[in-house]
Amino acid sequence: PAMQPESRIYVAGHRGLVGGAILRRLHAEGYTNVITRGSRDLDLRDQAAVRAFFAAEQPEFVFLAAAKVGGILANSTYPAQFLYDNMMIAANVINAAHEHGVTKLLNLGSSCIYPRLAPQPLKEDYLLTGPLEDTNRAYAVAKIAAIELCDSYRTQYGSDFISGMPTNLYGPGDNFDLKGSHVLPALLRKMVDAKEAGAKTVEVWGSGTPLREFLYVDDLADACVFLMEQVSEPGPINIGTGTDLTIRDLAHEIADVVGFTGDLAFDASKPDGTPRKLMDVSRLAGLGWTARTTLRDGLEKTYAWYLANREQAL
Ligand code: GDP
Repeated sequence: PAMQPESRIYVAGHRGLVGGAILRRLHAEGYTNVITRGSRDLDLRDQAAVRAFFAAEQPEFVFLAAAKVGGILANSTYPAQFLYDNMMIAANVINAAHEHGVTKLLNLGSSCIYPRLAPQPLKEDYLLTGPLEDTNRAYAVAKIAAIELCDSYRTQYGSDFISGMPTNLYGPGDNFDLKGSHVLPALLRKMVDAKEAGAKTVEVWGSGTPLREFLYVDDLADACVFLMEQVSEPGPINIGTGTDLTIRDLAHEIADVVGFTGDLAFDASKPDGTPRKLMDVSRLAGLGWTARTTLRDGLEKTYAWYLANREQAL
């Protein structure tokens, strides 16, 4: 059965970039029974608490967007938390969804599940065909386990649990903290700060040559609702734009949007991470969904959001 306006829909991780966008989208579409809990009220790493929550709320549809996430520095500094927290969240929520008869669950992962040197663009079939990138291996292993968990419940119990793998995301509600954030919000913030301070250079980590793909988070929310409504298949389903650019070109594009006219200083002492991770999005395109927002549009919206919400974003 499909989601109805009054269906009980649990969005796990609604304060995050992804969960927040899904929540906005569900409200905009007129779903009236969306259930959320902040991490202070419900620690998803706590099995007993998660079971009690599912028993009390009886959700019918679950968007699993709760995760410990971060950029390259956070992932390399706190691998234990990235592995433990994400394994516990996935195991507890997916098993509780099974025990409490959830109709459908969408598990969200990341493009870093694919081998570091996999052919590009990354097809879903490349999962588990080679060694992972070191700087986010712990996180990736937890996300791979979550896909396998969904598929195992499907095989063993017939559960309709699916997995979407978004590429790098950005947009309103992102984390702009320079130590924890991903590259796009970090550079946006650094350029706004530099412009306001009249500084002449902005520091960009690494060589600037790695290639990354960026999906605007409202497009992701659109894809998530589409998957929940239309798709019931095992295995990861890539969600991206199908185009990428170098970190250097990204930095120039952000400078243009922000109006920062100074220079970029590349700091080679910082890691580059994986050389390229571009999603092959033909599976999702074949199912009927493609991204709409251009990078330029998405950057302008994100910049406007950041200026209006700086206090909460920092
Ligand atoms: P990744 O996609 O998992 O590697 O994560 P990030 O978004 O953190 O980094 C992507 C690329 O951007 C890496 O090559 C980083 O070294 C580079 N980068 C350049 N400047 C920054 C910055 O200020 N913050 C972050 N997080 N990455 C940066």
